[in-house]
Amino acid sequence: MKQVIALKDVTGLKASGAKTFTAPADAIVTPSAKDFLRSIGVTIQFDGASTAGNGNGSSAPAAAAEPKWKPEHVKLFNSPEAQRIKEHIVSVSHRLWKREYVDGNGGNVSYRIGPNEVLCTPTLVSKGIMRVEDICMVDLAGNQIAGTAKRTSEIFLHLEAMKAQPKARACVHAHPPHATAFAITGAEVPRCMIPEMEVLVGTVAKAKYETPGTQAFAETVLPYCKDHNCILLQNHGVLTWNEDLEKAYWFMEIVDAYCRTVVIASHLGSAFTQIPSSKIGDLLKIKQGLGLPDERTGLKEADYCACEFRPGVVCSNANESSPSGPDLEAIVKIVTEEVVKALSK
Ligand SMILES: [Zn+2]
Repeated sequence: MKQVIALKDVTGLKASGAKTFTAPADAIVTPSAKDFLRSIGVTIQFDGASTAGNGNGSSAPAAAAEPKWKPEHVKLFNSPEAQRIKEHIVSVSHRLWKREYVDGNGGNVSYRIGPNEVLCTPTLVSKGIMRVEDICMVDLAGNQIAGTAKRTSEIFLHLEAMKAQPKARACVHAHPPHATAFAITGAEVPRCMIPEMEVLVGTVAKAKYETPGTQAFAETVLPYCKDHNCILLQNHGVLTWNEDLEKAYWFMEIVDAYCRTVVIASHLGSAFTQIPSSKIGDLLKIKQGLGLPDERTGLKEADYCACEFRPGVVCSNANESSPSGPDLEAIVKIVTEEVVKALSK
């Protein structure tokens, strides 16, 4: 069995003044342990290897001693463009916190400023008090290449989306309660209820659960990045992306407001009214004009709104214990006949 090296296993190294930490060759070092070792300038040595990323999802050097940043990275990191993006990341972070889309140090924001350079929020800082000087920069493998604060271990989620979808220059990850409610239940986010949702977000994918911070977690979004700009992360939260950071943030607001409206509407006791499929085509044309993806492109009009939402119903996989359509009609017919028979006795 592989040994797991967690934060508690390495905290004692700070007092020892050691510069290296030797771990078994197949050990798994948790992201928080890596971040801690890096913060105190300790390099991990794996038995039989030099320094390397090991397990737990990172292809980045596990915990290199504080590097001297390369001049080209420092130049980019301190450029006027980077300053503008950092200010925007801070603005988005503050709005995520004010709208209660993040809690504790949860959520992360990133922007791909160069072909291999990504500005991102750091670990262990609340989005409510994020400052421009907290923003750091990583390469596409997740190695930190500039900044004093330590990058979030969840950056790998953003990086996988960016590598799979070139238009995903900006990524926002948060835990907005209404959308996350759908991520912890079998209920699918319904379709065709509100035009703005259809045009800017559309259908919402749900990525399977994996342990946050791991490479397996980061890769859960890969099947959905091509056709969805908003992905629910099962039992976790939401990831949105766009070429423009402001729009990636908008999508977070839009999906949570939409889910909130659906939850409120589900308490009213009336059936949901969908926008007719024949009108959804108009909205999808607007969406296409905005350069936004939608998995329904190329589908027949009748399939645009295939999800008929009711609380507790999983639209994508017919819930066999909750018959509908012809099955339900057949059951109603049998029950009615039995009642009529009983009454006529
Ligand atoms: Zn999260």
